[in-house]
Amino acid sequence: MPLDEASTRLADVREKIARAAQLAGRASDSIELIAVSKLHGAAAIQPLLDAGQRVFGENRVQEATAKWPALRETADVALHLIGQLQSNKAEEAVALFDAIHSVDRPSLVTALARAMDKAGRRPPCFVQVNVGDEPQKGGCLVADLPDLLAGARAADLPIAGLMCIPPADVEAAPYFALLAKLARDHGVDDLSMGMSSDYETAVTIGASHVRVGTALFGARA
Ligand SMILES: *Cc1c(COP(=O)(O)O)cnc(C)c1O
Repeated sequence: MPLDEASTRLADVREKIARAAQLAGRASDSIELIAVSKLHGAAAIQPLLDAGQRVFGENRVQEATAKWPALRETADVALHLIGQLQSNKAEEAVALFDAIHSVDRPSLVTALARAMDKAGRRPPCFVQVNVGDEPQKGGCLVADLPDLLAGARAADLPIAGLMCIPPADVEAAPYFALLAKLARDHGVDDLSMGMSSDYETAVTIGASHVRVGTALFGARA
């Protein structure tokens, strides 16, 4: 992808975020755009870096470990883990990522807390909520959220907010509204929600972090 195409896509997404924020009476600089670079190589990522994007999302520890150390030498990048995390990769994740969006079970809370103590590094975490109660999806059930949050707080995990991936092919807004309500009810601030197809909707409902891949990079292989 040439630099001017990357710049155009980035400007377009940022403008849509700004417009949605304005509609909702929000400041657009309160919304973090995470460029989801999973399955894209350095050749696709570099133009976006050159265009000024500095926050990226990956969904696998192994892929990110292979790709990012070299890219990071040239720019001060924040990396967010947005995919499911195995407990045995918690140490690697804590070392590499600046935020973790997929905390979804007590065993992972324990593993992350231990990894953070050991590393002396505490990247902010999001509890992922399975807002559609879909069996095949990651995230804790809505009913399990209170206990999971209590456990995370007891373990001194830095909980920044909640994250969700709504069911596909249905209107996302009610699920975003549910996540926003859960965050209010439980006293957490940030909301990681909204992807290429629905990030503007998510912004109007209060997203603090949108995770956008396809609209920035084009289709994944
Ligand atoms: C891939 C992915 C995204 C980005 O999806 P697009 O539709 O390409 O914008 C966002 N969040 C998560 C958790 C993902 O895995």
